[in-house]
Amino acid sequence: MGSRLTGRIWVTCTSLLIAFISYSSQIFIIWPWYGHELSLDLIYLLGPFNILVSLLYYNYFLCVTVDPGRVPRNWIPDFNSGDDVEVKKLTGGPRYCRTCEKYKPPRAHHCKQCRRCILRMDHHCPWVNNCIGHFNYAHFLRFLFFVDVACTYHLAMVTARVRDSFGNGYWIEPSNTEIVFIVLNYTTCVPVILAVGIFSLYHFYCVLTNTTTIEGWEKDKVATLIRRGKIREVKFPYDLGVAENLKSVLGRNPLLWCWPTNPTGNGLKYQVGSGEDVEVQMSWPPKDPYSNNGPSRPLPASPWTYGDGVNPTLEPSNARLRTSHLARAPYEATDNIEQMTPSSEGTESSDDEPLVRKRRGSEGVEVKTIDREEVLRRYMATRGEDATRYNYYNPESE
Ligand SMILES: [Zn+2]
Ligand SMILES: [Zn+2]
Repeated sequence: MGSRLTGRIWVTCTSLLIAFISYSSQIFIIWPWYGHELSLDLIYLLGPFNILVSLLYYNYFLCVTVDPGRVPRNWIPDFNSGDDVEVKKLTGGPRYCRTCEKYKPPRAHHCKQCRRCILRMDHHCPWVNNCIGHFNYAHFLRFLFFVDVACTYHLAMVTARVRDSFGNGYWIEPSNTEIVFIVLNYTTCVPVILAVGIFSLYHFYCVLTNTTTIEGWEKDKVATLIRRGKIREVKFPYDLGVAENLKSVLGRNPLLWCWPTNPTGNGLKYQVGSGEDVEVQMSWPPKDPYSNNGPSRPLPASPWTYGDGVNPTLEPSNARLRTSHLARAPYEATDNIEQMTPSSEGTESSDDEPLVRKRRGSEGVEVKTIDREEVLRRYMATRGEDATRYNYYNPESE
């Protein structure tokens, strides 16, 4: 409930930020610049900008509201078709989500925030309070594209106004209100275009290679494994070539790529590139065979049998420990120590308080080990003698 509320606050704040940049610039900067009068020049300037803002808003709305794609109830991977199963790396079985209790179609992943599996999951986006997946990825790309173009247009307009106030402009100097809004528009729009610009460059690169954000991480891991010589070169299975990659996400008709259209396919199966080894492609992403989770050496049916008898190479688990123990030289002083201990006398005083217990705050009871000097002193006391520095204990003298 709390996360849902936070998500709505994010979406509201994002919408307000877009509205502020789009409309405060027109109302408080451009409109006074054109003398508070509607002219053809003003329409030529603001018309395209408002079209861009509408497309931006509409794609944002689609990102927020369109379901990124869920696994249909009782969906089972079709093994017979042979080309749409992304198998589990180790067991060779299909991928399964234990949380959703459903099979995972290829490229689907479980989103913790959405608490379900998302088809062709890219990432969970807090700005749209939704996952970006199969059915809204194209809307998301278009949204990023229109943010970039509209912000560039906006900055060009505001900069033109600023340049006009310097030098040989017709118009009067900007008022204080205008100056405040010029500064506010720069301080909001410049960080947005920098952040979204870098983010969009990454996603435009991803769409050219038909890679999701998650698959980008997987590709990095695989590249490391190949570099370390742990696995052989593996081709990323969903890369179909630049043109086909773009068509598979943005639609078959390039003229409509900027227009909000529904994606093709049902998100449950994806075409894979023509590659050398289809099986290797299907088991994407390949795993480190030497990792703990990797396939281990096959175990014999029973480790205790060897043909008809007992396995001759078997040895008790502590055998090595014992031999190493025997290899050590016997410790000769052991007997002497036993003789020296006053407990051999059997007096009660030495057994009275072998351990001293001390209360220690919340940590509980601290157990203190026997102090040899103390034991000796007590023993001497029972014999009516003084345990001084020069008073040695000699059991033979008794
Ligand atoms: Zn799931
Ligand atoms: Zn999500």
